[in-house]
Amino acid sequence: MSNSHLSSRLVALLGGAGLALVLAAASPAAALDPAAVKAQVDKDVGADWPHLQALYEDIHSHPELGFQEERTAAELAKEMRAIGFTVTEHVGKTGLVAIYKNGPGPMVMARTELDALPMEEKTGLPYASRNKEVYDGAETFVAHSCGHDIHMTAWVEAAKALVAMKDKWHGTLMFIAQPSEEGVSGAKAMLADGLFQRFGKPDYGFAQHVGPSPAGELTFRAGIYNSNADTLDIRFIGRGGHGSDPAHAIDPVLIASRFVVDVQSVISREKDPAAFGVITVGAIQGGSAGNIIPADTILRGTIRSYDNDVRMKLWSGIERVAKAESEMAGAPPPEVTITRGAEAVINDAGLAARTGAVFKAAFGDKASEAKTPITASEDYSEFIMAGVPSLYYSIGGYTPEQYAAFKAKGQPVPFNHSPYFAPDPASSIKLGAEAMTLAVMSVAAK
Ligand SMILES: [Zn+2]
Ligand SMILES: [Zn+2]
Repeated sequence: MSNSHLSSRLVALLGGAGLALVLAAASPAAALDPAAVKAQVDKDVGADWPHLQALYEDIHSHPELGFQEERTAAELAKEMRAIGFTVTEHVGKTGLVAIYKNGPGPMVMARTELDALPMEEKTGLPYASRNKEVYDGAETFVAHSCGHDIHMTAWVEAAKALVAMKDKWHGTLMFIAQPSEEGVSGAKAMLADGLFQRFGKPDYGFAQHVGPSPAGELTFRAGIYNSNADTLDIRFIGRGGHGSDPAHAIDPVLIASRFVVDVQSVISREKDPAAFGVITVGAIQGGSAGNIIPADTILRGTIRSYDNDVRMKLWSGIERVAKAESEMAGAPPPEVTITRGAEAVINDAGLAARTGAVFKAAFGDKASEAKTPITASEDYSEFIMAGVPSLYYSIGGYTPEQYAAFKAKGQPVPFNHSPYFAPDPASSIKLGAEAMTLAVMSVAAK
């Protein structure tokens, strides 16, 4: 461990040019040639492309919601068995664990997600999803609008590339496919099902996410990578009545409306303006007709932060504003439920330096350190909190042609969770496969 720390620090100091020299002197990863590994993965992706494209389009057009990913998991299990991995299904309900042993050496975890989102895809792609599943008691469209289908395909190809170059590394690969990332519950489910007790605890872990940045670009950083995410549920209680006679009713729609506006003063006036914090009310449900004042109104939202003090400030501000709105209207106190969700992903500093140097050596200035964390959240943090030093990084998804097309329309490229989110599969799967292979090699090369 200390040996690896030393080498990663030296690598960080010397950068790409000194990499081979430093690794030769200070680390068992003496033979690692990042450019050669990247070139080999490129060749493999090219040769495998018809299969990878078919796999990607099949997963994309058959998305499944969290803990319902039976078809997707079975498909990945088949792929990983064909590559030579020993696969265990149904770890954490629908999760998958694929193990490949290659002599003594570190155990390295590589994670993909399995799940899709409860929303309608509007990309117009020939393989766009028309799948529907039951979510929260109602049938809804399901779509891979977060790009987990790209991660899965890249993950399979990285596994294949690593097995093909098994003479260049040693140790054990633990490739896991995690259910229900969007529900921030799948990582916990796998851990609760004895992931590390049954299969061993990895020495290192990696995960990647595609986003709206340019294809071919990769970003990483040491320390906080993405945000704490908590959920907010409020029921404002009023008194139902006739829409023409508000004086004999208490209007919970008005109370909820005030809350939506006033709660933003917690963000603008109460927290440190330099600290990150977001409160978003994403759903309001109240009433059934224009001339009826309903008895209650339900609000759902998300609360994001990096720092725990900010997190607590937002929680107490939300509670206080909600109570005050009800009191001002002479209504009973609201029912406020704040549920602690995903914890921020904290990347290991030593690993960020070590693997980051390999990324830079392979990708040049297309690999860079992110100056700030990203505001989205991830339950990959569960694996880090369970003691796996990890690096979680981002890969770009949109080609220059896609950027130009959206610019011509005067629109930004669609972000994750947009019904139009459609990163370019060919370039993002290639980059994902290269990056994950290089990440594993950065800690397991002979
Ligand atoms: Zn997502
Ligand atoms: Zn995602």
